Amino acid sequence: MKKSLIFLIIFLISSALNGAFASEQIVITADRLNVRDGVWGKKLGKVYEGQQFEVTEEKEEWAKIEYELGKFGWISLDYARPALHTIAGKNITLSQFCAQVDTEFKKLGWKNISCNSDDWQANWHSEKGQPLIYKVFGNENSTHTTLLICSVHSDEDTTYHCFRFMQLLRSNPELIQHRLVLIPLLNPDGFFTQPRTRTNANGVDLNRNLPTKDWASLAHRQWKWSYQKNPRYNPGKTAGSEKENQFLVSLILKYKPDKIVSLHSPLDFIDLDYMDKREGDKALLAIRKRAWFQAQSFAKQSGTRFRDYRTFPGSLGRFGDEWKIPIYTLEFPEKPGNQAAKEFERFKSAMLELFNTNLSTQPTALNNEQDKDQLL
Ligand SMILES: [Zn+2]
Repeated sequence: MKKSLIFLIIFLISSALNGAFASEQIVITADRLNVRDGVWGKKLGKVYEGQQFEVTEEKEEWAKIEYELGKFGWISLDYARPALHTIAGKNITLSQFCAQVDTEFKKLGWKNISCNSDDWQANWHSEKGQPLIYKVFGNENSTHTTLLICSVHSDEDTTYHCFRFMQLLRSNPELIQHRLVLIPLLNPDGFFTQPRTRTNANGVDLNRNLPTKDWASLAHRQWKWSYQKNPRYNPGKTAGSEKENQFLVSLILKYKPDKIVSLHSPLDFIDLDYMDKREGDKALLAIRKRAWFQAQSFAKQSGTRFRDYRTFPGSLGRFGDEWKIPIYTLEFPEKPGNQAAKEFERFKSAMLELFNTNLSTQPTALNNEQDKDQLL
């Protein structure tokens, strides 16, 4: 007992000597911040306001971070703060979060799934301090990535399907041939509100708030014209203002997905958004053709319809148009409810085929530093 206490004290002292930030999460506070190869070293890249990182090493008020997948560099801590608190107060731990999720699942009658805190990574938090969780499956070094997102609109109850995929892939990881990045609950604050809401804690529709190029000129005008300012479609104060979207854009920049699949309900169709038909070079048109074919194949396999649905300023579809990332929006026929397990089985194999289809692209726009500057 005494011995372990001494070890604990030594551990605490050595932790303190390692610096206040070491192995902690930090949030970038500058608009844009250079990442360098050492303290005042050569420029390697950039990070952006609101992005969150784990400090792997600290030296002379500088911190080493993984600023992109597998790439490490140093940033000045003058432009970062510890990510201990959100505006709403203290961040909620993963195990507290999972306990809350399980309670909601029970209320929804979803008995065969649960949230296991060991399963998830969470470096980001929502406005109310809930962890924004994700998990990477498949080959970590693959250049072909699918990003799967559930619960952008938390009143649509699509989170079931992402947690079911987690459960399936945990025991059958070989089902993913390339790489799958899974975001099972993008809008936890909406999910924990009773009744569950489409919008986040700030009352913003995340699917109208992404930093698309036309957001500043059109998002608020469209909200007024098309929706008479119905609060369900509120695009927010500025493009990409919401923490959930900053997290989403950060993962898109990190993993450069060659397609994104986002689950909604209850319109019963699959929609593909990917650049204007009249634009693009031969290679992009070939990708468009393959993505289109895949959407049709998905509809046929699962018995849903293939519809070309419109996009909006700040929506994921328009974001994909701009950044040359095919976006598949799958609208489930209804809220999963009691039929959730049956619905999952109906769509499972078509989904897996979609995840494993290689659309042969690395979206070049995401590799362009100047273009990335506009994003965050
Ligand atoms: Zn929706």
